[in-house]
Amino acid sequence: RAKMGARGEFSFYSREMAVDIRERVRLLQSLRHAIERQRLFLVYQPQINLRTGKTCGLEALLRWRGDDGQLIPPDRFIPIAEHSGLIISVGEWVMRMACFQQAELARHGYGGLRMAINVSVTQLRHPRFLSAFRTALEDSGVNPSCIELEITESVAMLEADFLGHMFEQIKALGVQIALDDFGTGFSSLSYLQRLKVNRLKIDRSFINEVSSTTSAKHIPALVVQLGQTLGLAVIAEGVEVQEQADVLVKMGCDEAQGYLFARPMEVPQLLEWLAARS
Ligand code: C2E
Ligand code: MG
Ligand code: MG
Ligand code: MG
Repeated sequence: RAKMGARGEFSFYSREMAVDIRERVRLLQSLRHAIERQRLFLVYQPQINLRTGKTCGLEALLRWRGDDGQLIPPDRFIPIAEHSGLIISVGEWVMRMACFQQAELARHGYGGLRMAINVSVTQLRHPRFLSAFRTALEDSGVNPSCIELEITESVAMLEADFLGHMFEQIKALGVQIALDDFGTGFSSLSYLQRLKVNRLKIDRSFINEVSSTTSAKHIPALVVQLGQTLGLAVIAEGVEVQEQADVLVKMGCDEAQGYLFARPMEVPQLLEWLAARS
C-alpha cells in the first residue's frame, strides 16, 4: 500500500510538472515574440527622501503587455527569462532604455534624479555584462553618478572573489549600487563591508506590517541601524500608508518608495507627476 501510495503521489507530481513545463514553454515562446514586437516597456516609480519629502530617484520596472492587452507581471516572466538566457538581451535593453531615459529627464530639468536599474544575478555573471553596461552609459551620455544598479541580496551566493572584483568594476564606472530585497536572503554581514554598496533596500515584506505590531518593527529598525553604522543609505520599498512612512521616519530611514507616494508610471504620466510636485 505504501508503494502504491508513493507511486500515486509520483504520477500526481509529474502531471503537475508537465503542466508547469508546458506553461513555461508557452510563456517563453510568447516572450520571444514580445521582444521581437517590442511589447516590453519600462515604467518608473519615484523614490522619496523622507527628510525633505523631495523626489530623489526613480526605479525602472519592466512591463510586458500581452496580446490580449493584459500586463504580465515581471515575477512571472523574469524567472523564465533568467532560466532561458533571454534575460541577457532583455536586461541589456533595460539598461540602455533606463540610461537614455535618465539623460532625457536631465534635459527636462530633472538631472538630479537617480535612476535605479534592476539587474539579476544571471546578468551579472554573464561575461558581456560590464561592457554592455559601459556602452549603455557612454551611448546615452548619462551622468554615471545618477545611475544605480539594484542587485538582490541573493547575489551573496556568488563566489566571493568574483563578486568583490565585479562590484569594484561597477563602482569604477562611477555608478551606485543598492542591495535589493534586503533582509530576505542570508546576508553575511561581512559582505556589506567588503562590497562597498551605497544603499540597502528593505524588502516590502518587512514594511507590510511595520506600523501594526512592535515585533514587525525589529528588522527594519535593525537594517536602518546597520546602514547608519556602516555609512550606507537605507530605502524602504512597498510603503503604502502614511503610518508606515511615519514609523520609518522615526527610525531614521532615509528614503521610501511605494504606492503611498506613487505607482510606477509611464513617461508622460511621470512627467506630469514630477511637474505637479515641484
Ligand atoms: P523589486 O525590484 O523588489 O521591485 C519592487 C516591486 O514592488 C515592483 O514590482 C513594484 O511595482 C512593487 N511595488 C512598489 N511599491 C509597492 C507598494 O506600495 N505596494 C506593493 N504591493 N507593491 C509595490 P514589479 O514591478 O511587479 O517587479 C517585481 C520584481 O521583478 C522586481 O522586484 C524585480 O525583482 C523584478 N524586475 C522588475 N523589473 C526588472 C528588470 O528590468 N530587470 C530585472 N532583472 N528584474 C526586474
Ligand atoms: Mg528593485
Ligand atoms: Mg526590492
Ligand atoms: Mg522585492
